[in-house]
Amino acid sequence: MAVNKLLADVLAERLAQMRQEYQARLPAALTSLVSLADGLNGSENDPVILEDLQHQLHKLAGSGGTFGFDNLSVRARALEVKIKQWLVEGHALDAHASVRKTLNHDLMVLGEVLLMQPLDINRMTVQSAEPDDIYSKSLLIWLVEDDLNLAGQLRRQLESFGYIVCHFSSISEAEAAAQMERPDMLIMDVMFPLQEENATEVLSMRPTLRGLGCPLLFISANDDFASRARAARLGAEGYFLKPLDVPRLVNRMAQIFDQKRAPPQRVLIVDDDVELAAHYQLVLLAAGMSAVVLDDPQDIIETVATVRPELVLMDLHMPNFTGPELAGVIRQHEHWVGMPIVYLSAETDVNLQNDAMSRGADDFLTKPISDAQLVAAVRVRVDRARQLDAQISKDSLTGLLKHASIKESLELEVQRARRVKKTVSVAMLDIDHFKSVNDTYGHAVGDVVISAIAMLLRQRLRQSDIVGRYGGEEFVAVLPECDVADARTLLDDIRERFAAVEFSHNGQTFTCTLSAGLATSMQHPQANGTELLVNADEALYAAKHGGRNQVRASEDI
Ligand code: GH3
Ligand code: MG
Ligand code: MG
Repeated sequence: MAVNKLLADVLAERLAQMRQEYQARLPAALTSLVSLADGLNGSENDPVILEDLQHQLHKLAGSGGTFGFDNLSVRARALEVKIKQWLVEGHALDAHASVRKTLNHDLMVLGEVLLMQPLDINRMTVQSAEPDDIYSKSLLIWLVEDDLNLAGQLRRQLESFGYIVCHFSSISEAEAAAQMERPDMLIMDVMFPLQEENATEVLSMRPTLRGLGCPLLFISANDDFASRARAARLGAEGYFLKPLDVPRLVNRMAQIFDQKRAPPQRVLIVDDDVELAAHYQLVLLAAGMSAVVLDDPQDIIETVATVRPELVLMDLHMPNFTGPELAGVIRQHEHWVGMPIVYLSAETDVNLQNDAMSRGADDFLTKPISDAQLVAAVRVRVDRARQLDAQISKDSLTGLLKHASIKESLELEVQRARRVKKTVSVAMLDIDHFKSVNDTYGHAVGDVVISAIAMLLRQRLRQSDIVGRYGGEEFVAVLPECDVADARTLLDDIRERFAAVEFSHNGQTFTCTLSAGLATSMQHPQANGTELLVNADEALYAAKHGGRNQVRASEDI
């Protein structure tokens, strides 16, 4: 039955996620084993260390198998048995040197087993990382490029945007690595003259790299249609010509990752049929959305306020209240005037449907509805609502919040921080001597510089941080739960990365710097958002006068 299948998918997804988390923790577990073993020195503390080692290996042996790392389990178990024996025989004390040597060797083997653990193909068909994951971890980019010069250059540039880059100079090298690891994105040159290979042809015939299931971008020296067509057939999400316009490439990369990290769509289901509502909820959950069921219509306002749904699926006929009545109550709040409300009802009388729609709703879906239809209907509407919302609140060049929206978010965040007694830091950033960039290279190049800084900010900030384009080349970042020291480190990192980005125009390359000012609620406990921003602006002014290319906090001045 469909529900069971969906439930199985949900479970498979959760399991895969747990497994990924487990795998990510393994290197640390191994490091801890190695350093424990290093502590063996022939003293009477050795048995304690050995017991600790045995205990950790026991855990590893048990958990490894559960998460599908069978080899690891077997190895850990063998080592555990060995240590147990040493302990029983009292062997450890007098022969610590040889025990340590044996242990270190075995631990090394364990490490190799860990590295060689083959990729589980099923894992790749299951949804990849959670959106939050993509935000917090550095993204791994595989660059397959035989031109070492270009590879080196591109690598440096991508690294300055916070990506981890792994370079391969041939397709087969990358294919070999694909047995063991999975990048978050693959960037390939099309032509490999030495091997006389065309990557779009090779990939069409040999599926190894395609099976990685990550976004694919091509770079090419010539614009031949056949390669472009093959690239499109391979699902490539970009095709960039040499000489590479790196900021444009990075922009596309950020777009692709942004799509992936979009938070799950939040849906509120209002239905008095509890079982049916639970079914819809499960269907939406399985599709990666977040879905909440409301069965008592009286709680509608509270629920909408806490869930902040991006769409409400509303039953038409319910005891005590009707769908249109509830829609009317929601629409009384001006905040929620734009929120999509969709009726989901068995009502087939078109007149009744129209009447219901005319009162506060956007659409009408008729029960019964297939799971796939429901998911598609919800997804399309939420995506559209998001696009509209983005058009209103986001700046088109940078994708960051506009002036008014960032100011509003700043006030809310400062109020919230005060309520929960946490620190919030506010940063104001401004590009140095930006006028001369425009004057020397033109406005369009200036725009590239602006979008580069925006990308860096998006790349380096946490999901809970809020960032906006405050003015032309001025940016504001709101950093909740971040004290001035952490904020300074973060901004200095962004400053350094920005300074490392090379821009090019008509064969000329140049770099830019930025200055930043910081203010934190800790230093200004009474300040509201606007006042905090004034403090950050004063710190920025000090940074400019201090010689630019630096970060100042309001406490420094
Ligand atoms: P400082 O180091 O003191 O910040 O010097 P500056 O030249 O960066 O400062 P100023 O604020 O005088 O110059 C900002 C320039 O930014 C002026 C304006 O033409 C330009 N600018 C504003 N918005 C945009 C935009 O959207 N695109 C481009 N290309 N330039 C912009
Ligand atoms: Mg400036
Ligand atoms: Mg300025």
